[in-house]
Amino acid sequence: MAHVLQLSTQVANMIAAGEVVESPLSVVKELVENSIDAKATRIEIHLVESGITKIEVMDNGCGMSLDDALMAFQRHATSKIKNEFDLARISTLGFRGEALPSIASVSQVELITKEEGSDGCKVTLRAGHITNKETFPTNNGTRMIVSNLFYNTPARLKYLKSPSQILSQISDLVSRLALSNRNIKFLLTNNGQTIIQTLGNGDLAGLFASIYGVSVAKLMNTTSNSSNGFKADIYYSSPTITRSRRNDITLIVNGRYVRNNLVNNAIIDAYKNYIPPMRYPICVIDLSVDPLLIDVNVHPQKMEIKFSLEDELYRLIKTTMLEALGTKTHIPEAKHTDIISSNLNVFDLLEEEKQTKINEIKTYEIPKENIESPIKNKVVFEEEKKEPLYEKKHIDESNIRIIPSDKRLPYMEYIGQLHGTYLLFQNEEGLYLVDQHALQERINYEYYFEKFSNPCKECVPLLIPITLTFTPAETFILEENIEMLSNYGIILERVSETGFFLRGIPTWVKPDASEDIVEKILYHLLCEREFNIGNVRDSLAKMCACKASIKANHAISKEEVKSLMDELDNCKNPFNCPHGRPVFVKITSYEIEKLFKRTM
Ligand code: ADP
Ligand code: MG
Repeated sequence: MAHVLQLSTQVANMIAAGEVVESPLSVVKELVENSIDAKATRIEIHLVESGITKIEVMDNGCGMSLDDALMAFQRHATSKIKNEFDLARISTLGFRGEALPSIASVSQVELITKEEGSDGCKVTLRAGHITNKETFPTNNGTRMIVSNLFYNTPARLKYLKSPSQILSQISDLVSRLALSNRNIKFLLTNNGQTIIQTLGNGDLAGLFASIYGVSVAKLMNTTSNSSNGFKADIYYSSPTITRSRRNDITLIVNGRYVRNNLVNNAIIDAYKNYIPPMRYPICVIDLSVDPLLIDVNVHPQKMEIKFSLEDELYRLIKTTMLEALGTKTHIPEAKHTDIISSNLNVFDLLEEEKQTKINEIKTYEIPKENIESPIKNKVVFEEEKKEPLYEKKHIDESNIRIIPSDKRLPYMEYIGQLHGTYLLFQNEEGLYLVDQHALQERINYEYYFEKFSNPCKECVPLLIPITLTFTPAETFILEENIEMLSNYGIILERVSETGFFLRGIPTWVKPDASEDIVEKILYHLLCEREFNIGNVRDSLAKMCACKASIKANHAISKEEVKSLMDELDNCKNPFNCPHGRPVFVKITSYEIEKLFKRTM
């Protein structure tokens, strides 16, 4: 073995840079966090080639004196904490004093800064060494220019993502930082082109509109709750809009944007019955918590966070979201744009005709009266059920009227069935399409879920028992659970090595194909890790609901429609099938008028 030697500062910084500085993204993150810590109210980020060539971050924060500016590039030099007590109560974004020396060790840096009451200065560094320092007239605040990142570590440079991937990551980051610092004006540009610009006036609706667009901002709602020292303000999207990535769940803890799977899962679990599988909501969770209950020092990039009282936090977020979702109307509206763009495939338009159609789509805007704060976006049917205002003479008097007692559901009149698959309803707001399979699946799902939750022994004995055979392993499990099954009205008797008689089926299984359903329940249970009805109620209820529901292409009578809608009225979530697909779709009269060019 060679002798043990202390590494030089530059080498130590380059090693630290390996953890702190992975790409232009981490440089932007560290510099912008420093600007936020410096109490800036305006932060500009200008990139050249997604930051690979140059990253410039400018702020109007507290700035630094020349001495501090020089000190800031020393390893573990920070103005943010002084001792181990401060470490337990971190309220700034930075505290490790690692970012500037790490960045400087793998790039060329120019720092121009001025603190109120002192002269401005300029410090230049190359590969971590100060090459120039001078007084330099400038405004209060800090301007940090990082050029040629990784120029002295070619291996790093080689493994960078593509410029467009890096830019997308950076704009994602800046969006989150803007969401967590709503009173700071952000500007992000790349090669001179504006990517993100926020007003910094604290208005969340406006911020959502500039990040996700007006149509999303319109569908955001808010709720809040607190317990066990956690206070959560949640801004959440209506389940009628979803995303394919779970990335749009933003967690902000005491003003710091962080990642935490526990909180993400609490949100996703709450939305589960409202949105289809593999789709995710847009959410911002603003969490205030005693700094003693969190540890932000678990990762050099300070992105991960650890909570004490994790179970309590999960419960708080999930129940708050479930309550919020459970009180709102969730009927997606079909838009002019959706309808026209799908028309493009149907009609074989000439090339130029297509172009005018496409231009039309691009210029389509959401009507002014709809652009309002999501906070004001109230439940539509909160008050008394409204009688229709449209001309009564256009209505067939024999139409069935649906007057739900659930305030979330609209008053509607049944006007017919489409393709034996969709039920059509009208009210003064427009036309509603109801997917009859989704409708019945929802009703059956809630029925079976209730039955699997409250065991009922009553059963119908089978005159001729059904013979079922299983593998030896399955036989062993079934044998052990014969009594548990009988509590649910499923009567099994072992008759041979691997054979059972099904002698009785529960009274609560709906009559059509009931034996088939009981068999399915048994096989379903055997596939689970634990043979326990109570633990797999949800998946069992989904399976039974799907089996028992009417399929598409099936005509149903007005009376059946009435009784189905009455049953839906009693459902806990009348808006989605158990797999999260919508039961209702609404096309407003306004949208219909647009389609017919009665309004522009
Ligand atoms: P940390 O943020 O963990 O303290 P950094 O290496 O990022 O460590 O920064 C070192 C110090 O430089 C900070 O503690 C702060 O005092 C100073 N500093 C960095 N950026 C700025 C800025 N934009 N405005 C004012 N001071 C800054
Ligand atoms: Mg820092």
